[in-house]
Amino acid sequence: MEKGLAVSPGVAIGVAYCILEIFVNPDRKRLEKHEIQKELARYEQARERTAVDLAALQAKVEKQIGKSEAAIFAVHQSILRDPAFTNKVRKWIVEEHLTASAALHRLMEEYSAMFGKMGDEYLQERLNDIRDVVVRLSAYLSDVLNNAEDSGLSGPLIVIADELLPSQAVALGEADVRGIVTQAGSQTSHAALIARSRGIPAVSGLSGILRKVKTGDTVVVHGSEGLVSINPEPEELAAYRKLEREFFNLKDQLAANRHHPAVTRDGTPLKLLANINNVKDVESAAAMGAWGVGLYRTEYLYLTHDNVPDEDEQFEIYREILKKTPHRYVTIRTLDIGGDKTVAYLGHNHNEANPFMGWRSIRLSFEHPEFFLSQIRAIMRCAAELEDGSEGQVNMLFPMVTNVEEMRKARHLVRKAEKSLDERGIPRGKVKVGMMLEVPAAAVCIHHLLELVDFVSIGSNDLVQYLTAADRDNPKVSGLCQPLSPAVVITLKNVIEACNQANTPVTLCGEMAGQPRAFLLLLGMGLRSFSMSPAFIPTIKELAILTTVEHAERVVEKVVSMKTTNQIKRFLRMELEAISPDIARLDTE
Ligand code: PEP
Ligand code: MG
Repeated sequence: MEKGLAVSPGVAIGVAYCILEIFVNPDRKRLEKHEIQKELARYEQARERTAVDLAALQAKVEKQIGKSEAAIFAVHQSILRDPAFTNKVRKWIVEEHLTASAALHRLMEEYSAMFGKMGDEYLQERLNDIRDVVVRLSAYLSDVLNNAEDSGLSGPLIVIADELLPSQAVALGEADVRGIVTQAGSQTSHAALIARSRGIPAVSGLSGILRKVKTGDTVVVHGSEGLVSINPEPEELAAYRKLEREFFNLKDQLAANRHHPAVTRDGTPLKLLANINNVKDVESAAAMGAWGVGLYRTEYLYLTHDNVPDEDEQFEIYREILKKTPHRYVTIRTLDIGGDKTVAYLGHNHNEANPFMGWRSIRLSFEHPEFFLSQIRAIMRCAAELEDGSEGQVNMLFPMVTNVEEMRKARHLVRKAEKSLDERGIPRGKVKVGMMLEVPAAAVCIHHLLELVDFVSIGSNDLVQYLTAADRDNPKVSGLCQPLSPAVVITLKNVIEACNQANTPVTLCGEMAGQPRAFLLLLGMGLRSFSMSPAFIPTIKELAILTTVEHAERVVEKVVSMKTTNQIKRFLRMELEAISPDIARLDTE
C-alpha cells in the first residue's frame, strides 16, 4: 500500500496505464550494427503513427471541446516535423548505436538542461510540448505499447504519470479513465484540478510510483485517503470493489439532487457555482446542478494558443460560455498566468527566482495594456448579449489584486475599454467588476478595497499558500499549506465579515469551497456563495440541505479558539460525521 496526498475523493479500480515510463527507465541497450537500419525504420514508423494520432486528436478535440483547446495539437505536429528534433535522434541511432527510445530520452535531457541555461523563452515554453511529443513517440516504440487506444488495454484505466501534461489531460477525456495517480503534484496541481472536475478519484505526491507499477497491473486508488494499492490480493481487491460500488452509488444518489434548490435545512438560500476551464466544462456544470459559473479560468484559452487570441476570438468563446451557462450567470477571470503556468508570447521569463511571488497574473496584464484591454472589451461585448433584458449577469474578475492602486488602475482600464467600444459603436453590456482576494496584503486592507469593487471572490488556493509562505505545489512544504489552519480561518472570517458588513457580494472559489468539512466553517462565517469543481456540487448541496446556519455558526465559534490545524480538522471531521457519515466519506483527508 502506497500513501500519498488525497486529492480527489472516491475509490477506483482499474488497469494501470503508465505515462512517462520512458523518463524513469531509459533504455540502456546498445544496438548491433546490423540493427541500425531496422531501428531507423521503427523510429520513422513511430513518427508517422504519432503524426496520424495528433491530426486525429486535433480534429476530435476541436469538434468535442473547441478550436482553441485543439490548437495545442497543431503545435505538437510542428514539433514532430522539426528537422532539428528528428536529425538528432537519427544521428544518435546511427553514430552511437542508441535505441530510438534511448535517443529520445537523451534528447529530452538535452532540451531540459539547455532550457534551464539559455533562457530562450519560446523554447522554454515548448518544453512541456516537446516532452509530450516524445512521450507519444516512445509509446509506439516501447514493448508495451503505451497507447491507451491501441494497447489492447480494455476496461477502466488508472492513469499513472509523473505529472499530467496539459494535452494528456485533454486527451484523457476520450479514454475510460477511472483514477489518476501522480508522482509530483499537490492538492491544487493540474492533475488534481482535472481529477476533481471530472469526479475521478486521485492521489498525488507519490514519488517513485512509476518504478513500482507497470502498464497492465491492477491498481486500486483510494482518493479519499490518499492510498494506492498495486496488484492487491484477492480478498483486498474484493473489499475495494465493494467500496468502489458504494462510492459509485453514493455519487449517483447525490447527483439526483441536481434539480433541487440549494437551501440549508433552516431555509437559507445558497449559490452553488462552478469553476470551469473551457466551454466543455459548462456542460458538466449544468449536469451537476450548478446555479452558474463562479470562476472561468481564461488562462486555459491562452495556454493552448501559440499567439495572443484576438478580441473577436475571445468574444466568441465568452459568448458561447454565457449562452450555455445556467441562469446565464458567468464570472470571467482575466488572465491569471504565471507561477506554474507560463505563456512565452507575453514575454514570460522562466528564470524568475520566485515565480509565484513574481510577475504573474494582473501584474503581467498591466504591462501588456493592449492585450489586457482586448480581454476586458471581449468580456464587455459578451455582456451585451444580456441587454435584451434576459436573465443573467456577467462578472469581470481581476486576479491577484494586491492593493488599492492596482484596483484603481484596473477600474481605469475598464473605463477606457468602455470608451473605446462606445466610440466604435460596438455594443457592450453591464458588467460587475470584482477582485480575487488571494494576497494577504489585500486581506489586511479589505476595507479600503471594498470601496472599489462590486464583488469579491476569495481565491483560497493562493491565499493559503501566501499566508503560510508554503508553495502549494511543492510536496516538501505543502504540508504547511493548510486551508484549515488557524491563521487561514481567522483571515477568512475577517474577510467574509467585512464583505457582508459592506453589503458586497462575496464568493469563495478555491478548492476549499468543495470540501465538505470546510463548507461547515464557511457557512458559519456567513458565506452564501461557493464556487467549486462541478463534481462537488451535488455533495455540497446535500450537505447544505442537512445543515442549519445556526449549527454552522456554533461550529465557527468553537473553531476560532483552536490553536492547531489538527485540532480544527479533527473537530470538523467529527461534526461532519455527525451530520452525514456518507458525506464524510467523500471528504479528502
Ligand atoms: C485560488 O487561488 O484559489 C483560485 C481559485 O485561483 P487559481 O487556483 O486558479 O490560482
Ligand atoms: Mg489563484
